[in-house]
This record gives sequence, C-alpha cells and structure tokens, in this order.
Amino acid sequence: MKLQIELTTKCQCKCTFCIRHIEPLPTAGKIIEDALFTKILNDAKEFNITLIYLTGLGETFLDPGLERKVKQVRSELGDKLHLGIYTNGMLATKDKVEALYKAGMNEIYFSLNAATPEMWTQIMGVKDGNQYKKVVQNINDALSIHGLTVHVTSVTSAQWIDPHEVEGLMSKYSPNVLHMVRGGNWAGKIYPLDYKPLGGCRWIDDHYIYVNIEGEVCLCCFDPYGQHSFGNVKKESLENIYWGEKRQEFINKIKQEGRKDVKPCKHCSTI
Ligand code: SF4
Ligand code: SF4
Repeated sequence: MKLQIELTTKCQCKCTFCIRHIEPLPTAGKIIEDALFTKILNDAKEFNITLIYLTGLGETFLDPGLERKVKQVRSELGDKLHLGIYTNGMLATKDKVEALYKAGMNEIYFSLNAATPEMWTQIMGVKDGNQYKKVVQNINDALSIHGLTVHVTSVTSAQWIDPHEVEGLMSKYSPNVLHMVRGGNWAGKIYPLDYKPLGGCRWIDDHYIYVNIEGEVCLCCFDPYGQHSFGNVKKESLENIYWGEKRQEFINKIKQEGRKDVKPCKHCSTI
C-alpha cells in the first residue's frame, strides 16, 4: 500500500498545468493539523503502508514543521518504510535537504518544468527569473548528498512542450535523474479527452491512497478537493475507508467494466 499525504496548500507558484489556478482551491493557505497528521500515521502503521509521499496541492517546504514530520514518520513507521518528498525546489536549500535526509527522507523529487529562466517564469508563474538559478543550484546540491535519491521531473504536454526546453533539460541531467512527465488533464478539468479511455488506471492498480489536508481519502491526486472522497480519516481508519463499501464498489466497477463510462475517470488522461 502506498500513501500520499498533503501537508500544505500554500504555494509560491502558479504553474500553468496546475488545477489550483483553474478551480478555486477552497483549502488554500493551510498547513495540516498535527493531530490529523498523527492520526494518519497511526492508521498507516496499522495498515501495512510501505511507501509514503509527502506532497499535495502545495509546496511541501512551506510547511515549517516538515523536518519534525519526517522524523515522526520515520520513528512511527520504522526503517523499512520508503519516504519521498516532492518540491518545486525554491526553498529546498542544501542544509534543509540534508536535514531531511538525516531525519529519514529517502528520496526527493524536484519539479523543474523548463530549461531556461525565461520559460520557467512563464510555466511556473514566478516573476523573478533569478529564482530559477537557485532551484538549479538546490538540485545540484541535493545530487551531491551521498545516499539520497534525487529525481528531476518535468511536466510536458502538447499544449506547452518546447523541443528546445526538453533538449536543454536532457543535457543537464542524466536519464536516471530526469523524468519527463506527460501533463495530466485533471480528469477533464484542464483539457477535454477526445477519446474513450479503455482499461483501468495505474493509480488504482498501484494501490495508492491520497489523503488531503482535511483528512479526506480522495479518489486520487486528480481529486484534490475530495469531491469523490471515500471517507475521512478524522472519522474512520484508513484501513476501513480503503476496504469500505464506497471504495470497493467504485474499484470493482472500474475493474469489471473499465472506466469508459465511470465519472470522473472517463474524462481522465491518465493511462
Ligand atoms: S508548484 Fe505544485 S502546487 Fe504549486 S502551482 Fe506548481 S504544480 Fe501547483
Ligand atoms: S482514471 Fe480516475 S482514479 Fe485514475 S487518475 Fe484518473 S481520475 Fe484518478
């Protein structure tokens, strides 16, 4: 079982591909409550969670309690758990990343969606292009930390792909570090799907569970507001929600019939 926990809904960026700027984010500007975070970890411990990603619809490094939470994850779930963090890299300086690594983080994903400051400011919606150099420096510093797994992800899509940018990124990072990621359509909210998707969904097959900042166990990360929530961790255990009727009905329908007629999955670009 794999768990994704949203720690904050604060963010300094306005990425063109991000849903928070298409639909108003009702929970914007929040940090997860400590009591809720502790409850999620207690449930995760009971439920054989083997991997946790700390990420959601916000910049994880804007949570001032991040290092403490990483220590808490490690002490509650032990050494076997795999712990990853996603960041836009703006605040992920070497000292902070080193501290997180020592606290128990195994891997870090930097979202770097351009090879030049000019394109980066456009795509990430940040006015100061000098920030780009800092992010690149932070990535290089993280890559120098022995034992830490570092990824650089770059979102591409037919709408904003630029071959020169892709070449620029490929010249900076080795293939085992750089991941070009196809931009998703947030289950039809950003751009429509012009075909009926066949088959199931990687998210479901990989047993991912997404808990948002309010404790909602969402359908997936394309349902960040919990519009298709299966339950709330504040009221029930993660395990009960996962095996509960609401989720199982949904999963069975997708498994038996595929998702071509199931909302919102029938609109989703995920394959
Ligand atoms: S950094 Fe992440 S949360 Fe922030 S706007 Fe970009 S995609 Fe959205
Ligand atoms: S197909 Fe459904 S469950 Fe899978 S990512 Fe898309 S919206 Fe989420």
